[in-house]
Amino acid sequence: ELVFKNAKAELCGDRKLGLIKYVMALMNGARLGIAAQSVGISQAAYNEALAYAKDRRQFGKAIIEFPAVAEILSLMKAKLDASRALLYETTRFVDIYKAFDDIAKERKLTPEERTEQKTFAKLADSFTPLSKGMSSEFANQNAYDCIQIHGGSGFMKDYTCERLYRDARITSIYEGTTQLQVVAAIRYATTGAYLARIREYEAMPVASELEDIKSRLKDLANKYATAVEQVTEAKDQELLDFCARRLVEMAAHTLMGHLLLQEASNSELFFASTQIYVRYAEAEVEKHAAFIKKFNKEDLVHYKKSNGTTIR
Ligand SMILES: Cc1cc2nc3c(=O)[nH]c(=O)nc-3n(C[C@H](O)[C@H](O)[C@H](O)COP(=O)(O)OP(=O)(O)OC[C@H]3O[C@@H](n4cnc5c(N)ncnc54)[C@H](O)[C@@H]3O)c2cc1C
Repeated sequence: ELVFKNAKAELCGDRKLGLIKYVMALMNGARLGIAAQSVGISQAAYNEALAYAKDRRQFGKAIIEFPAVAEILSLMKAKLDASRALLYETTRFVDIYKAFDDIAKERKLTPEERTEQKTFAKLADSFTPLSKGMSSEFANQNAYDCIQIHGGSGFMKDYTCERLYRDARITSIYEGTTQLQVVAAIRYATTGAYLARIREYEAMPVASELEDIKSRLKDLANKYATAVEQVTEAKDQELLDFCARRLVEMAAHTLMGHLLLQEASNSELFFASTQIYVRYAEAEVEKHAAFIKKFNKEDLVHYKKSNGTTIR
């Protein structure tokens, strides 16, 4: 830690905006960079795992032909596609609000433009911690699965996957751990910002053969909304902090399901991943919904006792 006493200094920017405006802008830019790095690691892990699974033969056939291996690969691809879709949507929001910043340097924005700029800046702020948090966790999961598909060889330094595993591990730590992304994201769950965006995706048209997926995503959104309501109605900060990661993940899975649905409506390339991701999202959201439904603040005591301490 450095302490400066009576040192000459020049003020950069405006007073009182240091943390809220400048540091947050810097952090959000860096977090988006780590989200992109995570998507890259997920892609590399998938590529390595796929190539190995086609090449490696056991019991007279390529291991990709075993359903247990094929399922791991398909889920890796679905998580990769979902995290990339979330990254691109987030960067689109950032591009739009920054374009207004550039225009504002040349002329005054109209009131409509200012409103639009605020809308996209808020969307960028709310999606950035989701993108960083989910992409980095998926990169870790994909790197783990990549090693698993390589079997014993994956543990050795001879293969790329052990390096990917080490590279992935930092992504959920630096520029704010996943827990800190949840701290940044939870306010958008409790204020209804994520739900409002989900409802906007629900209103977007999709290919007729994908209507069933859309209605399944609506069920997920309702489960998410019920869980948020239950936790916020208790008006207990400790309970909210405890449930925050589950709520944020429920929102993220539903949002990523919608983004893949939009992609699948435009290109058949995303059809399989959308089916697989939404099935996975259902299992995850239902798991979290069941946990929260049966949880109340009195249950926190067990978590405190088991650690021999208080949560705070
Ligand atoms: C290779 C590497 C490169 C780095 N590069 C840079 C760099 O260029 N610039 C820079 O400034 N920093 C850099 N860092 C630092 C990095 O950003 C921090 O390590 C990271 O943000 C986590 O902070 P910490 O290590 O202090 O962990 P801590 O804050 O001590 O966290 C420890 C644990 O407590 C949890 N925790 C902490 N606070 C909360 C909370 N409020 N709610 C819930 N859980 C919480 C965390 O999730 C974590 O599990 C780098 C770190 C590494 C390892």
